[in-house]
Amino acid sequence: MSKALTPGGECEAWCTKCKRDTLHNIVAMDATGKTPAKVLCRSCKGEHKYRAPKSAAGEKVTKRPARATRKSAEAKSSAPSPAALYKRWEELVGKHAGTAAQRYKVTAGYNTADVIEHKDFGLGFVTEELAWNRIKVLFQDAERTLLARHGQNPPAA
Ligand SMILES: [Zn+2]
Repeated sequence: MSKALTPGGECEAWCTKCKRDTLHNIVAMDATGKTPAKVLCRSCKGEHKYRAPKSAAGEKVTKRPARATRKSAEAKSSAPSPAALYKRWEELVGKHAGTAAQRYKVTAGYNTADVIEHKDFGLGFVTEELAWNRIKVLFQDAERTLLARHGQNPPAA
């Protein structure tokens, strides 16, 4: 949910005087027209340069090495961490022990829960059929979208 920001409109922003995110009136936009340049704090009525709110987007702006912030990143971001992916992958390895992996071919069709062997990424598990010709596959290190049924005609539907 992002509505277009315009002068006269309102936005959440960090107020240096209030030392918190407050509702601001937009006084002026910057050259890109996408970010407010000058804002007026509704709480203290102070006019100042726009600073992104610290609660939401602000967290991402302060980029620190992934390892140092892994704990907080895991809690806040919805993207699974490499450790979490590996754990899921490992669980699937156990679950599918005994299932023969099929060699991944871009021209073949796959179903959810198929086990595949990719020449670059190794052992993978089809976690989702994204489209008739796209599958989501969980590998040891990442979840990847792969092509399937390449060269075939889409189902007449
Ligand atoms: Zn203020």
